Amino acid sequence: MEAELREKAKELLGSGEIGVVIGFGWNKRKTRTTPVFITKAEDTDKLVFNAYCVNNLSVYLTRKYPDVKAMGKAAIVAKGCDIKNLAVMIAEGQFKRDDTYIIGMTCSGVGYKQELIEANGGELKPEIMPVKCHNCDVRNPHISDAVIGETTDFTPPEEPVGMVFDKIKQIEAMDAKGRFGFWEEHFSRCIKCYACRQVCSLCYCDRCITDKNTPQWIDSSAHARGNFSWNLVRAMHLTGRCTFCGECERACPVNIPLNVINKKMAVVMEDAFDHRSGYDPEVHPPMIVFDIENDKEEFIK
Ligand code: SF4
Ligand code: SF4
Ligand code: SF4
Repeated sequence: MEAELREKAKELLGSGEIGVVIGFGWNKRKTRTTPVFITKAEDTDKLVFNAYCVNNLSVYLTRKYPDVKAMGKAAIVAKGCDIKNLAVMIAEGQFKRDDTYIIGMTCSGVGYKQELIEANGGELKPEIMPVKCHNCDVRNPHISDAVIGETTDFTPPEEPVGMVFDKIKQIEAMDAKGRFGFWEEHFSRCIKCYACRQVCSLCYCDRCITDKNTPQWIDSSAHARGNFSWNLVRAMHLTGRCTFCGECERACPVNIPLNVINKKMAVVMEDAFDHRSGYDPEVHPPMIVFDIENDKEEFIK
């Protein structure tokens, strides 16, 4: 699979069609993978693909990284779950479909805890895979210019499984005070580092509402009121857009269960609008579309 990937990258860079291949490479000690930006055909041997390729590299196609844009047309190595973010970005006009070459990787899952994979002798066991992998319906990449790897025949369970879904059920069973207490306890740990925002390719505003101070909408200090505003505003801004890639929770240094809030909002959007984000670059997220003629609410008209 890696040989095929490197060959494809070499071909793209060699033809001059592509200025940069954004992919995964080893860190120095080969214990983790790290994003690599390959601009020369002779460097394509640095590309790897394995169970350590957790990062969602789509963030490098946002305006947060003008240096990457300056490298020319990008080809991006993407798992199906990463492609979902690309689909939302295209739907939201962040780039045109033809502006990026998507190298879709067939995938058998990744492991969030690299040390556990190492402890298993490099083997990826289901118990150390994130919830998204257990329920994944895009192991064969759904939108790609080239697909690398063998087609997989994995079928996700009919009812989604995993800790996130169990937690959602638990929280739903609580009364309002219990639910508030649950989130109060978690949000109280937030240190406003904004790693969740920085790692997310769908948090791409030039100026985030939390950085605005005339007027100031969100208290910038890390205390209960400001933390609630920040986390709830972010969840609302991602509603109907978040693809449950899991990067924000993975990046959070204080382990706030952001996957729970994001997934709950995704379930609400599916129930209310029959919408699942990241499957079709032609479909806009429901919260940003109006249907003035048919909307039941008078105030819209
Ligand atoms: S969610 Fe699917 S595509 Fe993404 S890492 Fe897991 S198995 Fe691979
Ligand atoms: S899971 Fe987090 S990082 Fe991924 S799209 Fe949703 S909000 Fe962004
Ligand atoms: S990554 Fe975690 S601690 Fe940092 S701002 Fe986001 S929720 Fe708060």
